[in-house]
Amino acid sequence: MSRKAANDLQDLQYFGEYGGVNPSISDSSTYTFLSAKTMFDTFEGNTEGCYLYSRHSSPSNLYLGEALAALEGTESANVTASGMGAITAVILQLCNAGDHIVSSRTIYGGTYAFMKNFLKKFAIETSFVDITDMDAVARAITPKTKMIYCESVSNPLLEVADISALAKISHQQDIPLVVDNTFSPLTIRPVSLGADIVIHSLTKFINGTSDCVAGVVCGTTDFCLSLKDVNHGAGMLLGSTLDSQRAASILKNMRTLHIRIQKHSENALFLAQKFEADGLRVVYPGLPTHTGHLKMKEQMNPQYGFGGLLTLDVGSLEQANALMELMQDKKLGYLAVSLGFYKTLFSAPGSSTSSEIPIEEQKEMGLGDGLIRFSIGLDNDIQRTYEQMKDCMEQLGIIVDKITLRK
Ligand SMILES: *Cc1c(COP(=O)(O)O)cnc(C)c1O
Repeated sequence: MSRKAANDLQDLQYFGEYGGVNPSISDSSTYTFLSAKTMFDTFEGNTEGCYLYSRHSSPSNLYLGEALAALEGTESANVTASGMGAITAVILQLCNAGDHIVSSRTIYGGTYAFMKNFLKKFAIETSFVDITDMDAVARAITPKTKMIYCESVSNPLLEVADISALAKISHQQDIPLVVDNTFSPLTIRPVSLGADIVIHSLTKFINGTSDCVAGVVCGTTDFCLSLKDVNHGAGMLLGSTLDSQRAASILKNMRTLHIRIQKHSENALFLAQKFEADGLRVVYPGLPTHTGHLKMKEQMNPQYGFGGLLTLDVGSLEQANALMELMQDKKLGYLAVSLGFYKTLFSAPGSSTSSEIPIEEQKEMGLGDGLIRFSIGLDNDIQRTYEQMKDCMEQLGIIVDKITLRK
């Protein structure tokens, strides 16, 4: 399976309206019908290849969806206007009022807030569990549970989910395993490990240029069609529709994904190893000291490495902020949320992307306030980057120069 995802992407071929090598961008919100009968049939979902209205589907969105289905090895995929647009549509499609979700406790802050707070409106409850503890997952399931939800590599703590084991538990209960694979496109292909529905925030690595927000749901054709159903589809009715122009630009950026992921991973592994040798508290799935290292090795496509994210705990929020400001001054990257950009992005998740999670719960899951999340960039000379980052850390007393100490 190791090269399959990239090969499947490579094999996609397009012939635009005028024979262009890129598909033409559909510049219409609505589509004409030559007969009224065909319009009626299209509403009923019965006409293959007919477009009705761009919230339902558009040629550009279908092209991008095809590429993402090839990436994840699913029958079909629906693109959405954001990652949250994908997540909320899937959850509301699968759950009715009074239902229950079993979710990892280390997930994206927005997903956590949606489950914990927003779903109260529908009396849908979520049990947040340690996703690496299979007994805890199995114990949390009730007759009302409608899905197990996790991230393949979690945000921000980089916990690695055992997708095969989780799929086994969910299938014993006849419920789907939903996996957010935003942190590990190409590296992990959840469906090949038994997951049923795979979600991405395209905003991150897949688009890779930090110029738009977008998302996708990858799954069976039946499930993807159900999301688009004009009467009952959460995708169609909640209206999180991606614009065609953006779909076209994301599709173009996706073509370099395999090269970018390799470089992000190579650079992140280099820095993680150096930081660890310097005695820093670094978390990276590519380090043998990481609790999910072996699981990651078992599940990953080795040619794409261990991913572009690492965390560093520098002890306090003050130190974290000082280091991030200094690194930005030295042009080492941006003090910004998000991930997958060509420059390194760093932020302190406790006070930003995971601030929705109450402080006590952050502590319990190991999210200290001195934690910095790095999305490592495509730096050409990573040794130089390392030396400059080390200089910043020495300047702030985060790394105490061993040679100076010996003197
Ligand atoms: C960013 C992110 C999301 C949300 O995606 P948006 O495109 O910002 O809506 C969901 N899950 C993970 C893991 C993310 O990193």
